[in-house]
Amino acid sequence: MIKKEAIDSIIEDYKPKDIKIATLCSHCALQVFHGARSEGIKTIGICTPERKKIYDAFALAKPDEYILIDDPKNLLSSGIDDELIGKNAILVPHGSLVEYGGEEIENFKAPILGNRKSLVWERDRIKMFEWMREARIQTPRLLRPEEIDRPCIVKFSGAKGGRGYIAVNSPEEFERKVNKKEGVIIQEYLAGVRFYPHFFYTPLSREGYRAGEGSVELIGIDRRYESNVDEIYRPLSTGMDIKPSFTVVGNEPVVVRESLLNEIFEIGKNVIEAAERLFGGIPGPFCVETVCDENLQFYAFEISSRIVAGTNLYPEGSHYTVYNYPEWMSMGRRIAREIRIAIAKEKLHKIVY
Ligand code: AMP
Repeated sequence: MIKKEAIDSIIEDYKPKDIKIATLCSHCALQVFHGARSEGIKTIGICTPERKKIYDAFALAKPDEYILIDDPKNLLSSGIDDELIGKNAILVPHGSLVEYGGEEIENFKAPILGNRKSLVWERDRIKMFEWMREARIQTPRLLRPEEIDRPCIVKFSGAKGGRGYIAVNSPEEFERKVNKKEGVIIQEYLAGVRFYPHFFYTPLSREGYRAGEGSVELIGIDRRYESNVDEIYRPLSTGMDIKPSFTVVGNEPVVVRESLLNEIFEIGKNVIEAAERLFGGIPGPFCVETVCDENLQFYAFEISSRIVAGTNLYPEGSHYTVYNYPEWMSMGRRIAREIRIAIAKEKLHKIVY
């Protein structure tokens, strides 16, 4: 992995007035560009030629300039890091960028918002559980095939957005239903209500809810809409015999019972402080996928250590940001605001790697 000092020396040479925000035109890029524009920061869209017209269709959310690429899969190996450095750009990672970039993100030469080490921890499910346990968050039990004695969900390595997950109840069912058994993870199925809180950790301010050397903000909460499990009552009500699937197809907004906010903030704070102990911290946006059961106990089964697509619900701010900011505040805008504050305080090195 490229050394932190190398990134620090690149960012030190950036001209503060010329700093730009770049991201891949996908996932939540409209929100990132729209937010940067409101904070007066210029943007660069890394885009395939056929997608450009989509971004050009949004006058207030299109990037100020494009870097055209043939194939997002070559995104990080195509030498655009030098071009981004030449343009004083900070790259904002999102789900598509992390997926296409794979391990190459570790040696990408341009500064990345947040801590790129966290992306390594996010990619590896075993490491992620280590992180959640270090944060003292309850997690679903992980079982070996022969131990399956309750409803479980089988996850495949590299599978994104819940695609292909299989629900099983016994070792025999696992044997029968799961063809490719290598690299699978078997998790206890968590019954309850899902909440996916979107956090922003700033090491630059101690206002609000203290965490690590700074504070954590709750920017919004969503729940994913998954096909077919989220409307499974419909085929079930007709008597169809249908197997649940968990493919993410959309997001819906959620507010939690106000007395649960304490648990949610503690989860955010503990994830931040565990990240500090394990790999040096997690400045910027992140999300913890949780389930709250009928005893009001929270369990977490995944951390996304970057902006998540659920934040796209709130381009004008959420039912939580409204209590912190008199102006509308999206996650995209919060990112740009943090960069602006870090420039002013000469602390960019605290929020990029
Ligand atoms: P993931 O790929 O881990 O984000 O999971 C995709 C979806 O599968 C989640 O949004 C949940 O609806 C479901 N899911 C994943 N893990 C569990 C679990 N341990 N218990 C219940 N549902 C889960």
